[in-house]
Amino acid sequence: MRKPIVAGNWKMNGSRSLVKEFSTLMDGVDSAAVEVIICPPACYLGDFAGADFALGGQTVSELDNGAHTGDISAQMLIELGCNYVIVGHSERRDDHGESSELVAAKALKAISSGLTPIICIGESLQTREAGKLESFLAAQLDALTTLMTAEQLSKAVIAYEPIWAIGTGVTATPEQAQEVHAFIRGHLASFSEDLASGMQILYGGSVKASNAKELFAQPDIDGGLIGGASLKVEEFRQVCQAAG
Ligand code: PGA
Repeated sequence: MRKPIVAGNWKMNGSRSLVKEFSTLMDGVDSAAVEVIICPPACYLGDFAGADFALGGQTVSELDNGAHTGDISAQMLIELGCNYVIVGHSERRDDHGESSELVAAKALKAISSGLTPIICIGESLQTREAGKLESFLAAQLDALTTLMTAEQLSKAVIAYEPIWAIGTGVTATPEQAQEVHAFIRGHLASFSEDLASGMQILYGGSVKASNAKELFAQPDIDGGLIGGASLKVEEFRQVCQAAG
């Protein structure tokens, strides 16, 4: 049984007053049925102390410490109460030139430090329209299996986020998303059957209260990674309820 996860990715948004509004998030959400995670900017993690949902960072260094201005380590995230960290979000890949090899190194550092990485993969519209969707995703996944054993990778979560659906209001249809999730699971199965059947694979890209239920009902979709709709407590609560 794969427990559904709903993770809110605040990106570079939010404020201390928004953190306070989220104190009521879990009212009416069954935490036994869905794992709820908020990934705020790192500066607000401490303000969530005592929260009744899980916390995650938005990125992590592949290194332990040292002269790396602006970076944050896995141990620092753990000290701030995180159990999770997003790695390889397409915005980090684009804005900061993160390669799939670097993303794999960050994921492995998270795992070996005791954090669960939420590893993001996903194609651009151009890649999809060129018919290269599967080979593109396979290469992103192969960077992970090249660096990690099946046992290590089994401690991660994967988020499929088609870039054309992120922040655009255009969601993949449940059928489109299911097809890709099934491909991802099948590709992982060629590495390890157990890894593939246990892997929680989240969908991300314009998920909101009105479309979450249908997406989460698909057999290979195990919850979602939510951007814009995670900034409004009532809407995000409804997304969480749709998974649980
Ligand atoms: P969105 O972002 O829900 O605003 O499309 C999702 C994400 O980037 O994780």
